[in-house]
Amino acid sequence: MQERQTKQKSIIYDALKALDHPTATEVYGYVREQYPTVSRATVFRVLGGFADNGKALELRAAGSEVRYDYNVTPHYHARCECCGRVADVKTAGLDEKVLRATADHGFSVRGYSVEFFGVCKDCQEGVS
Ligand SMILES: [Zn+2]
Ligand SMILES: [Zn+2]
Repeated sequence: MQERQTKQKSIIYDALKALDHPTATEVYGYVREQYPTVSRATVFRVLGGFADNGKALELRAAGSEVRYDYNVTPHYHARCECCGRVADVKTAGLDEKVLRATADHGFSVRGYSVEFFGVCKDCQEGVS
């Protein structure tokens, strides 16, 4: 039983890495194709466990399903308001500026999450 749980966890973690900021439903769809015996409840529970243990980030936004990110180092996100897709924003320099400004307010920073929102390329082009 223990062995099976470990295997399920690693399968789900692999799916998380293979997909781009997926929802739990997307992870489940991906995992089920290879391992039809994995239940939806298991996928949701394991993903929640990853978030609790700091193995994954939970990206929450009002009105849309929670998305998961295996990359737990602080980084910026862009979220599409049409399809809900989340992408990483790669930038340099901003972090330090923002952290310094926050420190100026006497705040000790443990981490951060920045999210930009707008419309992704596919949605702009009308591809769904
Ligand atoms: Zn979109
Ligand atoms: Zn990310």
